[in-house]
Amino acid sequence: MARKIEPDCRQCRREGRKLFLKGERCTTKKCAMERRPVIPGQHGASRKRVTEYGLQLREKQKVKRMYGILEKQFRKYYEDAVKAKGVTGENMLSLIERRLDNVVYRMGIGASRAECRQIVNHGHIQVNGKTVSIASYRVKVGDVITIKENKRDNEMFKQLKGMKIVAPKWLEFDTETLTGKIVANPTREDIDQDIKEQLIVEFYSR
Ligand code: SF4
Repeated sequence: MARKIEPDCRQCRREGRKLFLKGERCTTKKCAMERRPVIPGQHGASRKRVTEYGLQLREKQKVKRMYGILEKQFRKYYEDAVKAKGVTGENMLSLIERRLDNVVYRMGIGASRAECRQIVNHGHIQVNGKTVSIASYRVKVGDVITIKENKRDNEMFKQLKGMKIVAPKWLEFDTETLTGKIVANPTREDIDQDIKEQLIVEFYSR
């Protein structure tokens, strides 16, 4: 199976911004973007010229890395977005945002998307009462997301009980019952404003 091999912090340095791939560490002084915010490699600090193609490529790489998606699957999101009604870039981000691993992350169940992907892969999450262990599973409005009953004694989930979690407005998560619900599809304003999705569309439509 294909997998990413570049260390997390190196990916942030390459993209020139925090991608929040390591959970709590990302908000501390240990973060590599706090200590050494330059492009990795011998000439990283002196690289300046960026072409139009370079900008498009970097934007695509940034979003792929933020969500931990490999190239083939990422391109598929673009292709699905082209076929859907509406603005391609916004459609693409909305589809990516609806991945089950991201939903679990947005609900605050794990500290990073990578951790949430593992939680899903290990079969801890149920959608509408059925275990789903596919991180890319696409949720839809009305879906009920829960932590499996027999996994709730796990320390990781026990500490969620009663916690105050600020979830985006397109989903709900009750930390008493450890149950969430998709109440709407994510719109552009619900997603990282720093993403320039038009550059990604231009990259794939070249
Ligand atoms: Fe990126 Fe987090 Fe590493 Fe900072 S600690 S460089 S935000 S992965």
